[in-house]
Amino acid sequence: MGLVVQKYGGSSVADAEGIKRVAKRIVEAKKNGHQVVVVVSAMGDTTDELIDLAQEVSPMPAGREFDMLLTAGERISMALLAMAIKNLGHEAQSFTGSQAGVITDSVHNKARIIDVTPGRIRTALDEGNIAIVAGFQGVSQDKKDITTLGRGGSDTTAVALAAALDAEVCEIYTDVDGVFTADPRVVKKARKIDWISFEDMLELASSGSKVLLHRCVEYARRYNIPIHVRSSFSGLTGTWVSSEPITQGDKKVEQAIISGVAHDTSEAKITVVGVPDKPGEAAAIFRTISDAEINIDMIVQNVSAASTGLTDISFTLPKAEGRKAIDALEKNKHGIGYESLRYDDQIGKISLVGAGMKTNPGVTADFFTALSDAGVNIELISTSEIRISVVTRADDVKEAVTAVHSAFGLDSDSDEAVVYGGTGR
Ligand code: ADP
Ligand code: ASP
Ligand code: MG
Repeated sequence: MGLVVQKYGGSSVADAEGIKRVAKRIVEAKKNGHQVVVVVSAMGDTTDELIDLAQEVSPMPAGREFDMLLTAGERISMALLAMAIKNLGHEAQSFTGSQAGVITDSVHNKARIIDVTPGRIRTALDEGNIAIVAGFQGVSQDKKDITTLGRGGSDTTAVALAAALDAEVCEIYTDVDGVFTADPRVVKKARKIDWISFEDMLELASSGSKVLLHRCVEYARRYNIPIHVRSSFSGLTGTWVSSEPITQGDKKVEQAIISGVAHDTSEAKITVVGVPDKPGEAAAIFRTISDAEINIDMIVQNVSAASTGLTDISFTLPKAEGRKAIDALEKNKHGIGYESLRYDDQIGKISLVGAGMKTNPGVTADFFTALSDAGVNIELISTSEIRISVVTRADDVKEAVTAVHSAFGLDSDSDEAVVYGGTGR
C-alpha cells in the first residue's frame, strides 16, 4: 500500500464533531495500510471571518500581516485534528506550510509554490505518524516571510505535496459527492461526474466551479497526479480527475461532449468610456492594469454610445481587485486619455465547458438559444476551444445556469444532488 494525500476542506472540519469524524476517517486509511498525509483547511468560515476582522482594523491591510493573520486559521484546525487522531490511539504530528517545506514566491495573498521540500513530513511518516499539514500557506524563498496561496489554496497544497511525495492519489474531501455538471447548490438536478479530464476540469475551475481550484488542477496535470474528489460525509465514490478515463466494470468511462456549466459571481466589469479609436489605447489601458498586478478575464470593445470617433472598452476582473484597478486607471487618466470610468459589480458569468465542443457544431447556437428562451440578456461573450462564456446580470445567473443545464440534457433523472454542509460562502 502506498502513500495517500487527503485534503479536508473547511466545511468538513467546521466544528469539533466534524474534526472527530474526519479523524476517524483518516485513521481508517492508516489502518488499511496507507501512509497518510493530511492537508487541512481552516474550520468553516474562519478565513472569511479573519478577513472581515482585518478590514475592521484597516481597509487595505499590509500583505505580509494579512497573510500572517490568515494562516492562523489552518494552524487551529491542524493542531485540533492531530489531537483528535491521538485521542483515537494513533500517532499524528501537525506541521505549518513552512515546516512542511512549501516554498513560494513572495507575492502576498496569491503566492505561487515554487518548490516543495517535505523532509520533515517524510521523517514523520517513517516514524509511523500521520502527518497533518496546514493548507493554503507557505514561506517565501527570498524573505522567509509567511505567504498564502489565494482563496481555496489548500487544494493546491494537497496536490503539490502529493507530487513531491510521489503519492498514489490525492483525495480532496469536501461537502458534496464529487464534481457535478453544475454547482449542486444552484442546480438541484446536477449530476455527479464519474471521470473528467484535466483539461475540462481546468476550464470548469477557472470559470468558477470552486469545488477545485484551477491552480491545483494545473499542478495535478503537470505532475500527472490523479485527483479523487469526494465527500467526507459519505462513503460514496466521487469524481476522478485524471489524464486517462477510468474503467467501470470492464468499460472505459466515455468522455462527455459537454462536461458541465459553471457560474461565477465574483467578478466585476469596468468600462473605460470614450477612448480615442487609435493604435496604442488598449495597450495603455491594459499596461496600467497589469502594472497594478491585476489579472483580467474578458474584454470587449464597442463603438462609444457617448460620442463618435471614440470607443468604449469593457473588461471583467475579480471584484476584490476593483478598487485597485479604478485607482490605477484614474491615476493614469491623462496618459490613456479616456472620458470616464464605469464600475459594475452586479454581473455574473455563465460558462459551458466540454472538449466535445470542438467537433460538434451548433453548441454555441444551442447555448444562446437556451439563454434567450430563459429571457436572459447577454452583455459580453468569450470563447476558448472547449468553453463558451457569457456575462449577464447577476440576478439572472441561477435561471441561466438551470436553463442551459437542461437544454444540454445534463439534468439527472435520479435523486437530487446532496449538499452535506458548508454555507456556500
Ligand atoms: P471546501 O471547503 O471543501 O474546500 P468549497 O466550498 O471550496 O469546499 O467547494 C465545494 C463547493 O463547491 C460545493 O459545496 C459547491 O457548492 C461548489 N461547487 C461549484 N461548482 C461545483 C461543481 N461543478 N461540482 C461540485 N461542487 C461545486
Ligand atoms: N482557508 C482558505 C480559504 O478559505 C484556504 C482553503 O480553504 O483552501 O480560502
Ligand atoms: Mg475549496
